[in-house]
Amino acid sequence: MSRLGIVGGGQLARMMALDAARLGVDVLVLAGPHDEGVRGLFPVMDGAPEDLAALRGLADVVDVVTLDHELVPLDVIRALEADGVVVRPGSATLSFTDKLHQRRRFAELGIPVPAFAEVKSLDDIEVFAQEHGWPVVLKAPRGGYDGRGVTVAADLDEADGMIAAADGRALLVEEHLELTSELAVISVTSANQDQTTYEPVVSVQIDGMCREIHADGSITVDLSTVAVRLATRVAQVVGAVGVLAAELFVVERDGQQQVLVNEIAARPHNSGHHTIDGCVTSQFENHVRAVLGMPPGPVAQRDPVSVMVNVVGGAEGSGDPRERVGEVPAGVKVHLYDKTPRPGRKVGHVTATGEDRDTVAALARTAAAILEGRA
Ligand code: ADP
Repeated sequence: MSRLGIVGGGQLARMMALDAARLGVDVLVLAGPHDEGVRGLFPVMDGAPEDLAALRGLADVVDVVTLDHELVPLDVIRALEADGVVVRPGSATLSFTDKLHQRRRFAELGIPVPAFAEVKSLDDIEVFAQEHGWPVVLKAPRGGYDGRGVTVAADLDEADGMIAAADGRALLVEEHLELTSELAVISVTSANQDQTTYEPVVSVQIDGMCREIHADGSITVDLSTVAVRLATRVAQVVGAVGVLAAELFVVERDGQQQVLVNEIAARPHNSGHHTIDGCVTSQFENHVRAVLGMPPGPVAQRDPVSVMVNVVGGAEGSGDPRERVGEVPAGVKVHLYDKTPRPGRKVGHVTATGEDRDTVAALARTAAAILEGRA
């Protein structure tokens, strides 16, 4: 049996390692001092994700290296590959983490994306806005998550701060779309090339952060077909190995619904957390299986409806969700990540499953509200 090395010790590493352990796969996590979620549960090697020597130390004692986040610089991944280390996904796929590179490449290949441009100055933004109108969306090409690094600018004054903070580095500017909904599709590509996709889900975002995922059969067959086709295509284009999440925008143009690719993440993703309790095989087990060259497990839903709601740290004094687990209604599955709550920090999620959309969603929301100290 292979030994799996995971770089980064956040909740994704934690949930991957829990499933790996169940499969009898040995795991070693390279983690920093603040990676609370894996310490005490799994063997940890101390080290920073940008430290090539630390990654070489990990690679020396595992068979396959995979990643919990996007913080490993590409040249570090390339250096490991040059050493002969098996990194999955590899540097070619991980180069798509750069949102500008991603947009450009997808546009070249005819994959639908929002109108965009690379900008370095307010003049560049003005030129873009003249064509596409205000407001515009400005994004840092790298390092953003949960809406950090994304700004909606109504005019040049509002764009100014982002240009100043970029300090000469290129930004991505996009048309601000009126979204009908946001969807996500998790695909799995095994190192042996078997590919499968989970049922597309509706993703509910608040202030740029994913708050809820609904896998409830509410997406029309037509939209679902387009979403799966796009997700499969992007997984092939980026040469994915393991789990890949495709975040999609639905917009209405000329009376027709159109699906655009917002972004991809080449790893297990928040939009797939419902698969732990809602599907036959979780995205985490499937990522482990895929990067180790095993065929993916079945991705079917166990129940017609599953709804996942994130548990997010609240204002000062709202307490610790870990002390409220006993108050959560029976049947709702609680996943806490052992992270100290801070405002806006995802510290866990809950999943409810069943037959009826509204009942299941209400149950999951109630459970999250209890854990967050709002109910
Ligand atoms: P992150 O990488 O931080 O998740 P995203 O680029 O996915 O950032 O943007 C976060 C959220 O912001 C999206 O899910 C969507 O709700 C909103 N958003 C991003 N780009 C646009 C856009 N061009 N038009 C309208 N809303 C957008």
